[in-house]
Amino acid sequence: MNEASNRHVIYLDHAATTPVRPEVLEAMHPFFRERFGNPSTLYSIGKEVADAVETARRQVADLIGSDPREIYFTSGGTESDNWAIRGTVIKSNGDHVVTSKIEHHAVLETCKDLEREGREVAWLDVDEDGLVSPDDVADAIRDDTALVTIMHANNEVGAIEPIAEISEVTRERGVPLHTDAVQTVGKVPIDVDQLGPDLLSISGHKLYGPKGVGVLYVRRGTRIAKFMHGGEQENRRRSGTLNVPGIVGLGKAAELAKSELTTEMPRLESLRDRLLEGIMAEIPDVRLSGPRDRRLPHNVHVCFRGIEGEGLILRLDHAGVCAATGSACTSSTLEPSHVLLAMGRPHEVAHGSLRLTLGRDNTEADIDRVLEVLPGAVAQL
Ligand code: PLP
Repeated sequence: MNEASNRHVIYLDHAATTPVRPEVLEAMHPFFRERFGNPSTLYSIGKEVADAVETARRQVADLIGSDPREIYFTSGGTESDNWAIRGTVIKSNGDHVVTSKIEHHAVLETCKDLEREGREVAWLDVDEDGLVSPDDVADAIRDDTALVTIMHANNEVGAIEPIAEISEVTRERGVPLHTDAVQTVGKVPIDVDQLGPDLLSISGHKLYGPKGVGVLYVRRGTRIAKFMHGGEQENRRRSGTLNVPGIVGLGKAAELAKSELTTEMPRLESLRDRLLEGIMAEIPDVRLSGPRDRRLPHNVHVCFRGIEGEGLILRLDHAGVCAATGSACTSSTLEPSHVLLAMGRPHEVAHGSLRLTLGRDNTEADIDRVLEVLPGAVAQL
């Protein structure tokens, strides 16, 4: 619970963003003033800062089981997605990309842009739980396929996609695989060698790190064009003076996530199940979106027939509960979610969606409070 203007606020929108942890802020702080040097310089204060960047690179690599040399710092998940897609397509002889209909807009819009440029995109359907079929990926790959990009977990409905199975297909066919893991890194265990992607996107602010910093993991040997041209930072692949405080913060957040994953994940799963079971028991005509298993440990997503999600969010806000309808990026529009439509939900159901995403500070008391206010809010609407 947060204390905001003397009222208890229950924050249940951790898929949109998370608060920076105090330990992360503390780690970042010296890099704004005392340790302000440019890591690309040769004198000692620059060198010390470069060492801090390398520590962060190792911390992120440890969280996903990669080599630190495969970690490239970016400005966030959106940049990582754009770079992964454009960078591999530019280097490829092929002009065909395979993706799904439920990707985040950072992937969707980049792929639509490729189409506008005359390239071809195969938009895979998902099943009613939002899952992509590895067989569909196999069927869609052609001789000229430059990239397959399928997200690791969906940011709205929490479905965890079968990336390990999909990577078997892409490896066999010799096509690079990118996965947007913005919603999973730090939430579920990830080992890039077991999971198998060649490129993987991470965002700092989804795992209690700062906003405006992220990572693109690039497996050694993957062909990818430079994204930003300039001073040739990040192994000459992503230019620009590094966002040192952000990178140090992301490194610290990754270290903490790794050390706490085995305790935090089951704790969140149990809170999630308490919330989900309470909603199902208390509210009529409600349907879970996304799978019951293969689901992010902190995600509850439900649809209420005949209700406007926006009205529900405002009522919950009035009761001190922060929740989401649709995804954070589109929740200011009244368009029904592209994810729910792809899952076959009719418009009137897709409009009445509620996403509650739990985090470190949430307790059983928070869940019980939500279960007190939510049924009344739904009934009023
Ligand atoms: N990909 C997914 C799945 C996301 O949920 C988000 C953020 O909502 C992004 C990408 C974009 O990340 P960022 O906010 O760091 O640009």
